[in-house]
Amino acid sequence: MLVSATEMLKKARAGKYAVGQFNINNLEWTKAILLTAQELNSPVILGVSEGAGKYMTGFETVAAMVKAMDKSLGITVPVALHLDHGSYDGCYKCIKAGFTSIMFDGSHFPIEENVAKTTELVNVAHQLGLSIEAEVGAIGGEEDGVVGKGECADPAECKQIADLGVDFLAAGIGNIHGVYPDNWEGLSFETLENVNKAVGEMPLVLHGGTGIPDDMITKAISLGVAKINVNTECQLVFADATRGYIEAGKDKQGKGFDPRKLLAPGFEAIKAKVKEKMELFGSVDKA
Ligand SMILES: [Zn+2]
Repeated sequence: MLVSATEMLKKARAGKYAVGQFNINNLEWTKAILLTAQELNSPVILGVSEGAGKYMTGFETVAAMVKAMDKSLGITVPVALHLDHGSYDGCYKCIKAGFTSIMFDGSHFPIEENVAKTTELVNVAHQLGLSIEAEVGAIGGEEDGVVGKGECADPAECKQIADLGVDFLAAGIGNIHGVYPDNWEGLSFETLENVNKAVGEMPLVLHGGTGIPDDMITKAISLGVAKINVNTECQLVFADATRGYIEAGKDKQGKGFDPRKLLAPGFEAIKAKVKEKMELFGSVDKA
């Protein structure tokens, strides 16, 4: 059931668990995530980056595929189709294509410009029933070619953006996208506590969920994080499972080269990873 992410994240924040945002890249990813959410009776957010949208030939293709698949699989748990790290233009494209949620990443703009653009997009999104996420303090690492350093957000700026009426807020707390380097200093819980105090009941978003130790995830949820983004981790397990299949020579046995067989181990690996994350985040049976 396609819905905005507003209600599911309010419930998560109040119930002290988090909803996973799992990024999709193609049909296998989408199907694996939707089926797992349904099996575990968990709400879920399908994240689409601008790069992944382009890869799948555009946001309209993505929205059409997700809507049709949601229906044909009989998915009854709440599913939000969310633009991840959207540009100003990308947000409008997704609104038009039928997404149910957008993120406007104005973190690289001066705060005044971030405020102006976020205000406009909040109004447009809410008129059409979409939820909207904003970002303060750049998340480190690389996301579709945009490299951030892993800043810690300024709580006063977080309050300023939260007050514009966004539905959930990504605040940099030393987290980064991709695989964490060995010398990573960990999440700044001091920043998270201060941001949480500043924004009241606003659900907070933790980007760069791959490789953050489980105890840090649990602590972050206790401090107001209600949405956790997982992307790289699904890519890694998909690649590993596919490599295992090919290295074992299974593509050379019988019709093992059939793409439906070749992609099956990766598909199953994504399902297992999504299940593991939903259990860790506490969203099982919260649909
Ligand atoms: Zn992110």
